[in-house]
Amino acid sequence: MILFLENRIEEEFLYFDPAIYARRKEVAEKRLKSVTEYVLADDICRSRQLLSYFGETDSPACGKCDVCLKQARTAPPASEFETIAAEIIKLTVNKTLSIKDILFKLSSKFDEDRIVEIVRWLIDNGKIEIRN
Ligand SMILES: [Zn+2]
Repeated sequence: MILFLENRIEEEFLYFDPAIYARRKEVAEKRLKSVTEYVLADDICRSRQLLSYFGETDSPACGKCDVCLKQARTAPPASEFETIAAEIIKLTVNKTLSIKDILFKLSSKFDEDRIVEIVRWLIDNGKIEIRN
């Protein structure tokens, strides 16, 4: 049994203001669009997406959501090897340096034995050439 606490409006007296109806429809569509974008966007931190919906546009990435975790997996921090190798390659682009030159430029930043080891690897793998 349903008990109505107020008299129901008869159908012929029901009236929907077209302007208000259009406005409510627009708001509902906007909300639906936001939810769809939230679900589909996999390149912006979920927390940032939510906060920007509420007007906070300069929030940092959370580091915990699926998007942040995926980005952390696909872009691992450069290893020491990659960092040193990149510096050596940068130094030897269009220039033929000696091992002494390379050590002179990089030994303040990295371990000398490690530099020599990586230079050797780069030469053996045809990535760089050096002069004696
Ligand atoms: Zn996140």
